Amino acid sequence: MAPRCPYCGSESCVNEAAYRLFVRATRKLPAAWFGERDEVDEDPMIRPSFGDVGYCEKTGKHVWACPFCHAVIPEQEVDSYKARCPECGAEANVAPSRRKIVC
Ligand SMILES: [Zn+2]
Ligand SMILES: [Zn+2]
Repeated sequence: MAPRCPYCGSESCVNEAAYRLFVRATRKLPAAWFGERDEVDEDPMIRPSFGDVGYCEKTGKHVWACPFCHAVIPEQEVDSYKARCPECGAEANVAPSRRKIVC
């Protein structure tokens, strides 16, 4: 099951190897994380980050993957350093390289 591009639906926009690696890395998140989210949310350093798993050839936008539900999602509006997954509603960090530069 190759993930499909959230913009155009093509499988070729998503880097499948990067996606699988990301899923494997974030699967190790402790199960307790979900039950204790409110406490964990206090510390942004503990919050996992969205993965950058592709680049849409048609729209020129990045493809992200959610560290919680592993959905492949479009680039989100970044609120300083974090964004919210449109699929599961969880907040995750955005790596510095993916943050928008605000002048
Ligand atoms: Zn695409
Ligand atoms: Zn999600």
